[in-house]
Amino acid sequence: MMLTDLAAACRKSGLKVVEADGWRSRGHDQFNSIETIVCHHTAGPKGGGNYPSYNTVLYGRPGLSGPLAQLGLGRDGTVYVFAAGVAWHAGTVKSSSYDNWHAIGIEAEHDGVSPWPKKQVEAYARLCAALAEHYNVKQTHVLGHKEVCSPPGRKIDPNFSMPAFRKKVWHFRKNPKSGGVKVRKPKYWRKHYPPKGTFVVGNRSSASTWLGRRLVKQGYGRFYKVGPGPNYSKTDQRALVAFKRKHRFGKNGAMTRATWKALNRKAGHARPPRFWAKVVPPKGTFWVGNEHTAVTMLGRRLHVHGHKRATLGPKYTKDTQAALVAFKRKHKLGKGAKMTPKVWRHLNRKPKKSKPKHRRTPTLDKALKYVRSGLRYARKAKLDRRSKELAEINKHLTRVRGQVRKGKIR
Ligand SMILES: [Zn+2]
Repeated sequence: MMLTDLAAACRKSGLKVVEADGWRSRGHDQFNSIETIVCHHTAGPKGGGNYPSYNTVLYGRPGLSGPLAQLGLGRDGTVYVFAAGVAWHAGTVKSSSYDNWHAIGIEAEHDGVSPWPKKQVEAYARLCAALAEHYNVKQTHVLGHKEVCSPPGRKIDPNFSMPAFRKKVWHFRKNPKSGGVKVRKPKYWRKHYPPKGTFVVGNRSSASTWLGRRLVKQGYGRFYKVGPGPNYSKTDQRALVAFKRKHRFGKNGAMTRATWKALNRKAGHARPPRFWAKVVPPKGTFWVGNEHTAVTMLGRRLHVHGHKRATLGPKYTKDTQAALVAFKRKHKLGKGAKMTPKVWRHLNRKPKKSKPKHRRTPTLDKALKYVRSGLRYARKAKLDRRSKELAEINKHLTRVRGQVRKGKIR
């Protein structure tokens, strides 16, 4: 393989990166895999600019053709990218995992005698941290040429303490606030949308760890035989597709902002309740004990339709079920609590205004009072049946009865 993403990996360090023309296709061979980062120094002249070894590392020297390393590091911390393929930098080594087909070589400009500029050493550590993070290189495999060469003592570069240097690398790997490599804690992604290219199988990011954790929380743990990790895998992808399907975010494995937001909502709350006003919830939503925003919507709609027994909130309860059964019965939508698209549409319609219950109206009260007082008067006065007053009272009584019959008053 060729490390065509090498410049991008270097840029993750935050350092200035200069790409030599044609670096993407340059190399003596293809890499087998990346196991190690080997640090060198050029042992070049003391002065002569920021990276006087440029041409040597790129084109080689008599007896050894270039590239002599994939990367160079200037005195001011500038990174030079020379090759995406194998370079002759390691020579004979103790283990094949350190050799030119498994190791990225960095040649830092230094004479091997004078003290190292602080800026350059810091940049060196940042660069190694970014590369180790990007290519998933073990911390113990950030090594100096003097540590990997065979026989031991064949090389002396770099002439600084490698254990102390590895500590610095570790610091930049694990401490994002140092301004070095952006190593995020998975939790960071709860509130941030990961950049493009994060969720590509094989890519590594703490966002993938977070994604996996959220998918497990959302009930997709069955997909994971091994716990979620920073390497985005096909397992992550399968779980994501299942989540998207269930919550109607589409059928492919592409990440979208809406999906990300939904993933970060409480389990079972992938969609806001109002979303379900126009969409029939998926099968398995309406089970007693299940939590779903569609259940919140159901409860609200049942209340609107006057079935106030339904529980409000995301949990599907027996009361909600009973209210649903009652609703279906009332609207002749069948017996039982089964949810069908038709029932769902009915629920989301405006309820028909039911006939208002007859209440005693002031008119009725007045009329009754009038009639009663008339009758009382008639009784008191022992009116003759044919008397004018009684006729008048009866007329009122008839009118009231008529209005009651017509439903105007009751
Ligand atoms: Zn070396």
